[in-house]
Amino acid sequence: MIGTQVNENTKRIRDRIQRKAANCGRNPLSVKLVAVSKKKPSPLIREAISAGLDVFGENYIKEAIEKIQELKEESISWHFIGHLQSNKAKQAVLHFDLIHSVDSLRLARELDIQAGKISKIQNILVQVNISKEATKSGIQTEDTIDLIRNMAKLDHISVRGLMTMPPFFDDPERARPFFKDLKKLSDRIVQENIPGIHMDELSMGMTGDFEAAIEEGATLVRIGTAIFGERL
Ligand SMILES: *Cc1c(COP(=O)(O)O)cnc(C)c1O
Repeated sequence: MIGTQVNENTKRIRDRIQRKAANCGRNPLSVKLVAVSKKKPSPLIREAISAGLDVFGENYIKEAIEKIQELKEESISWHFIGHLQSNKAKQAVLHFDLIHSVDSLRLARELDIQAGKISKIQNILVQVNISKEATKSGIQTEDTIDLIRNMAKLDHISVRGLMTMPPFFDDPERARPFFKDLKKLSDRIVQENIPGIHMDELSMGMTGDFEAAIEEGATLVRIGTAIFGERL
């Protein structure tokens, strides 16, 4: 049978993830692939589902909800990975199993309120601006522990780990120091022993640099282009 492009891409990426994990002594099952489907239509997502993918990452609430509704009969999980405004918290809580991009107490509080209304405990990651770029979302490294201490007091959100997005480089080796820094920060937070805070997940690595991210401890890699092709 002739496979589709998405099917072949998926196989190739999974293979690279598994090989890289095994090569650095990690359990390949400890690295989860989040297929980033922003700007890609539902039929392509169906192809990815046929290829065995079951976690999809979206950046824009309105676009995401349309696709989530089109694909509601599928047993897949949706993650929100884009910048989230507080006024979209209600929608986010309704539709996403994990929100990777929480970077303020204000947003965390709004998510907590909205999750409380539907008796949900919303899993979140804290997005850290590890590279200190002025234009990037994310909390500053030095403010992260305080933020997490405050988040720990909120009953309807559960912090599962950290996420970062380093600057774009042609050479993935240049992203590696930022992945190392995120891992170090995660280890420091573990040592703080904050009640109710789990540092199980490190969301880092995209099409161009996911192998370096896996070597540095990524548990969630967010890959779009290498699965679905270039975005217009
Ligand atoms: C678009 C996007 C990705 C995927 O990027 P690719 O280079 O296409 O793999 C990953 N993470 C975030 C936050 C994104 O916005």
